[in-house]
Amino acid sequence: MIIAVRPGAAKEEVRVFASALEKQGVKIHFSEGASQTVLGLVGDTTGIDEEALKAHHLVEKVIRVQEPYKRANRLFHPEDTRIEVTGADGEVRRIGSGSLGIIAGPCSVESREQIVNIARDMKKAGAGFLRGGAFKPRTSPYSFQGLGVNGLDFLLAARKETGLPIVTELMAIHQLEVFDEVDIIQVGARNMQNFSLLKELGHCRKPILLKRGYANTITELLMAAEYIMAGGNDRVILCERGIRSFDSYTRNVLDISAIPALKKQSHLPVIVDPSHATGLSWMAPSMAKAAIAAGADGIIVEVHNNPEKALCDGEQSITPAAFTDLMGALRKYAEIEGKRL
Ligand code: PEP
Ligand code: MN
Repeated sequence: MIIAVRPGAAKEEVRVFASALEKQGVKIHFSEGASQTVLGLVGDTTGIDEEALKAHHLVEKVIRVQEPYKRANRLFHPEDTRIEVTGADGEVRRIGSGSLGIIAGPCSVESREQIVNIARDMKKAGAGFLRGGAFKPRTSPYSFQGLGVNGLDFLLAARKETGLPIVTELMAIHQLEVFDEVDIIQVGARNMQNFSLLKELGHCRKPILLKRGYANTITELLMAAEYIMAGGNDRVILCERGIRSFDSYTRNVLDISAIPALKKQSHLPVIVDPSHATGLSWMAPSMAKAAIAAGADGIIVEVHNNPEKALCDGEQSITPAAFTDLMGALRKYAEIEGKRL
């Protein structure tokens, strides 16, 4: 971090200011020019409050050289992180560092029979994880809100039946009480910056699937991951799920460039949700393939046995048959990318 000191500032005052900064754990290099002093802060500057510095009367300008995230930063952790989850069948599933994680299932759990049947199909097609929402963040309070705790029970039944680890969304901290047996906790796009929730998940020992908010930048997504990691939980999976733009042809706009960007900036696995990104079932398979071709570590895709009758997101849900075809294609993509699937 570089601080340009306001011209004309009293030298003694600048020295006091600099030693106060050093107490925050950084070293300071002074460059004293004829008309301006520049302070170079070296070391871990993540704890330095940039906004407070800018407001200081001695400060003319602050330039951050390093990203404001540390634990999620590839700079401090060059090797890829791999998340491992053991299913009820004893089989270990991996996401990241050369392993593709395929998460598939309905938007929402609708009944025991529905989720168990889809889980069987997903397992047969080769999915690694089963998704299904029990607590649903819906835009309208009058839409189906999910089956709640019953939905979780049905997911657990599907897990028992197939061995597939389950991924489901947590909307509020108090729901953690009933998430004991969930394998991967999803934080939805709408909650990406729910900082109290993120902090709480930092104390949790389960992997967190963190979805990018639809109006959030790549840096904001990484800072959200940093919140979880700062609490001690470094098992975070980043998910690009489309961002808002001016064109309403698709539900969102899939930001494919977020994949290489996130992989460059961070060691965390990056997966893509082609279903919420496009809102269109016929488009989801091509976007899933594009994601793997662009270097993603997996996908989370909505699959429904009867999309026309789905209680949520039917239009973007592919059928089990389409998912089976997609898996066939993804195996070839994995081979080209030199990844395990
Ligand atoms: C979901 O995965 O069902 C979901 C609601 O996703 P998002 O948070 O990305 O909208
Ligand atoms: Mn959905």
